[in-house]
Amino acid sequence: MLVLSGGTGTPKLLQGLKEVCSFWVVVNTAEDVWVSGNKICPDIDSVIYALAEIIDDDKWWGVRNDTFTTHERLKELGFDEGMRIGDMDRATHILRSEALRSGKSLCEATQIVARAYGVETRIYPMCEEEVSTVVVTDEGEMHFQEFWVSRRGEPEVLDVRFENIERAKIPEIVRGELEREEEVLIGPSNPITSIMPILSVEDFSERLKDKKVIAVSPIVGNRPFSGPAGKLMRAKGFEVSPKGVFDVYSSFLDMLVVDTFDSRFESENIVSTNTMMRSKEDAVRLAEFIVKLFDRL
Ligand code: GDP
Repeated sequence: MLVLSGGTGTPKLLQGLKEVCSFWVVVNTAEDVWVSGNKICPDIDSVIYALAEIIDDDKWWGVRNDTFTTHERLKELGFDEGMRIGDMDRATHILRSEALRSGKSLCEATQIVARAYGVETRIYPMCEEEVSTVVVTDEGEMHFQEFWVSRRGEPEVLDVRFENIERAKIPEIVRGELEREEEVLIGPSNPITSIMPILSVEDFSERLKDKKVIAVSPIVGNRPFSGPAGKLMRAKGFEVSPKGVFDVYSSFLDMLVVDTFDSRFESENIVSTNTMMRSKEDAVRLAEFIVKLFDRL
């Protein structure tokens, strides 16, 4: 099974999936940034930390019980650190960046980091090229991290675009594995800023058409579980509802899993179950439900 992932909702589900089936992951990299000399891949880091079970599961980013001494000192020294980066988290960024500086690809660097944390799952970036999510707001254009971290998602969103996406290529290794894969799961991630960038790399979404594709809705009722998905979906012209999520994926989706709260939407290609993951047990239960659903498709 291939899983498409962002950095919060899907990593939660991966903690359950790893107990019930084998899978590989393609991760959004359009939120990556260089900070104080190192490349941060927020979504890849969260996937690795979740699978290594060291993620800070209060915030769903960074390493549990991390300290921030280096961050505080760098700020005193005049570094522009808009993001609060933990010391252990930064060690990951240094490991990745050193691999990149020594000429390794991002695919290779990701594998080095995953292995260092004892994670054997194949985890790939959506592309090698640097792509940036730019949020167009009533206060001008800004990188997604600035919009979400520095500005706490407050500005009015008019549009979202992925800078440099036209130059991005599906990595050769992903292309090969995708060709052989039959089952694709789109986790409960932000459809606009986490999944759309992956789907927009070359003809990635076209390649899903002949596969069994299941998605889990990150929206319950007319709100996301967390984060700015609602605002961004609205800006892209989609209804903020499970139906809106279905519409984003409609060209290739076979089945959408929505929360029991939205069971009224059940149809030939919408099923409901409890999709709220408050614990690992919740994630395992949802993962088992999904595996059975693939068998029925
Ligand atoms: P980001 O990269 O940090 O934006 O993270 P993602 O895109 O992977 O995840 C954000 C999405 O996860 C949000 O739209 C949330 O609504 C969704 N989400 C978070 N927790 C849960 C959960 O327990 N269940 C479901 N179904 N969705 C969740």
